[in-house]
Amino acid sequence: MPLHPNSYEDIRDAVRALCAEFPGEYFRQVDEARGYPEKFVNALTSAGWLAALIPQEYGGSGLGLTEASVIMEEINRAGGNSGACHGQMYNMGTLLRHGSEAQKQRYLPKIASGELRLQSMAVTEPTTGTDTTKITTTAVRKGDRYVVNGQKVWISRVQHSDLMILLARTTPLAEVKKKSEGMSIFVVDLREAIGKGLTVQPILNMVNHETNELFFENLEIPVENLIGEEGKGFKYILDGLNAERTLIAAECIGDGYWFIDKVTKYVNERIVFGRPIGQNQGVQFPIAKAFVNLEAANLMRYKACELFDAHQPCGTEANMAKMLAADASWEAANACLQFHGGFGFACEYDVERKFRETRLYQVAPISTNLILSYVAEHVLGMPRSF
Ligand SMILES: Cc1cc2nc3c(=O)[nH]c(=O)nc-3n(C[C@H](O)[C@H](O)[C@H](O)COP(=O)(O)OP(=O)(O)OC[C@H]3O[C@@H](n4cnc5c(N)ncnc54)[C@H](O)[C@@H]3O)c2cc1C
Repeated sequence: MPLHPNSYEDIRDAVRALCAEFPGEYFRQVDEARGYPEKFVNALTSAGWLAALIPQEYGGSGLGLTEASVIMEEINRAGGNSGACHGQMYNMGTLLRHGSEAQKQRYLPKIASGELRLQSMAVTEPTTGTDTTKITTTAVRKGDRYVVNGQKVWISRVQHSDLMILLARTTPLAEVKKKSEGMSIFVVDLREAIGKGLTVQPILNMVNHETNELFFENLEIPVENLIGEEGKGFKYILDGLNAERTLIAAECIGDGYWFIDKVTKYVNERIVFGRPIGQNQGVQFPIAKAFVNLEAANLMRYKACELFDAHQPCGTEANMAKMLAADASWEAANACLQFHGGFGFACEYDVERKFRETRLYQVAPISTNLILSYVAEHVLGMPRSF
């Protein structure tokens, strides 16, 4: 039975009630101060929402990706920004799927209770960009430790996390049969690592998104922090990306509805030339078009969730949902800004903040071009271009 976008009302009502305590003004102030929405993230964690995907046996609520996506959607739909905490929702999936029982017992209950935050995942590097198999950060085994050297960029929420998943090369590229082999993933305990081989340099950016450059200089990680088998890390990371992309698609859907609601209300109220500006079809059509595209993107988001929850392959749908939703929210953002006229640029309307926030998803966590090239090659069978 197809999922109706308005289902999951119980979850929606509860998340909306929590978000009502953190209105646009709260996020605006956090944005202006370039701060972190600590109170909001604590409230979400205490209410158990960020542990939605953790199975009950490890202290979470054992919900599916569909329900998790509803939580993220509602936060953005209420005017907030899930980007401050969405990593906590999906990063633990890597541990859950590929970690040992001992690792799961050690970390998951504490992540579920909020005692530990696993908000960060370090993949991107300054010199390799999207070409992930060329990463140059290395982890070399020395006895009961791995010694890490290299550099990462754009690694989010490190300053507000206790743990981080790290992708590093354990076998040089020249020595592997396939370039996707020879990389491994580790849990890095940031509380131990920072200042002892790991330096964190914040990157000021267009959005109030806590993100950083990381420098590894002989950082020692105990061997028991390796997740799964050595050399298989790239595959493990890819597994987790479908959840990430689908959740971010849902956040874009939430943003899109926020923009549509906001602009629809405004154009009905704003009188210019003696009538509401929303009476002009030149104003109506771009808003209506963005809404149509948003509704269509939402269907793909639910399709990706449904496949993921049924343990079916969903890479194509997760990528398509992310692209469609990011495009639809961006279209809605443009219409919203445009029809607020000059007021769209005033911070107190929150439009310019949400406009900046939703723009990020054209680029991260994967750019639109890379999604199109995935579809062209893997779905349509065209030759690989790079
Ligand atoms: C605010 C923010 C937070 C982030 N958080 C994290 C994080 O927590 N962890 C993490 O690991 N990474 C993170 N990232 C990194 C993000 O995933 C990358 O920025 C993104 O994947 C694009 O990689 P790049 O910036 O290296 O761009 P590049 O790979 O240098 O690409 C630049 C542009 O060229 C285009 N391009 C590149 N190759 C091709 C091609 N073959 N065909 C067509 N077009 C191409 C791309 O579409 C892109 O628009 C974050 C980024 C930002 C901005």
